[in-house]
Amino acid sequence: MTTTSSTLTPLLDMTRTLGQPHMDYVIIGEGNTSCRIDDDSFWIKASGQQMNGISESGFAAVKFAPILEMLEQPVGELDLEAQKAIMQAAKVDPSAPGIPSVEVTFHAMLLHECGVKYIGHTHPTAVNRLMCSMRGREFAANRMFPDEAVLCGPESAYVPYADPGLPLALAIRKAARGYMQDWDEAPKVILLANHGLIALGQTPQEILNITAMAVKAAHIFYGAYTVGEPVFMTREQVLHIVKRPDEIYRRQLFVEKTSH
Ligand SMILES: [Zn+2]
Repeated sequence: MTTTSSTLTPLLDMTRTLGQPHMDYVIIGEGNTSCRIDDDSFWIKASGQQMNGISESGFAAVKFAPILEMLEQPVGELDLEAQKAIMQAAKVDPSAPGIPSVEVTFHAMLLHECGVKYIGHTHPTAVNRLMCSMRGREFAANRMFPDEAVLCGPESAYVPYADPGLPLALAIRKAARGYMQDWDEAPKVILLANHGLIALGQTPQEILNITAMAVKAAHIFYGAYTVGEPVFMTREQVLHIVKRPDEIYRRQLFVEKTSH
């Protein structure tokens, strides 16, 4: 099973790191992570698993095709039981333990459409303090300091509240496609109203960096409002910083600083 461990170990380590209690990104069974195995399949955290201390058996290998097909069905066509049956049948090894997370649809869609290899979805308290307030859209649309723009992209995609499962996956797809049309690149951060954060990246280190920076930005945003209100970077300042060759080089180093 060398292929299993070579693709699963980095995801396992990333998931445990995101799940460390002192990070305050997730508690209990919150959050989920995934990574592409090849063009046909991906690993995803199994339903009900705690990210902190998760083991290899806490993940399921799933085929893209049947999951992506669920998103093409007319809304309301598949009830929860039908969805569960498709998820179970989509496992590369149907006899393996574990049911894929209920959020398997948005992971499949983002890995497939955004050209990224890893996804980390968490519910950080600092981010959700904003996403459960009237300031969520404002937090997503603005950047306050250069490193935020460099690591998290020129803005975050924003998703209005949707029911977890297929409705949420469809809402995320709409926001991700809109972002890619506007910016000609995939979002690095997707913010979900009344729910949480999704980081998209090419390596586990990039997911950890993006998540940490988005959480730091959320603390700063909150703090700036307590002393008056935030002063956002202008659109010109943001564009200048994300296009500077030295910043692009620095960003590349952040992505590569990882043990594949
Ligand atoms: Zn969630």
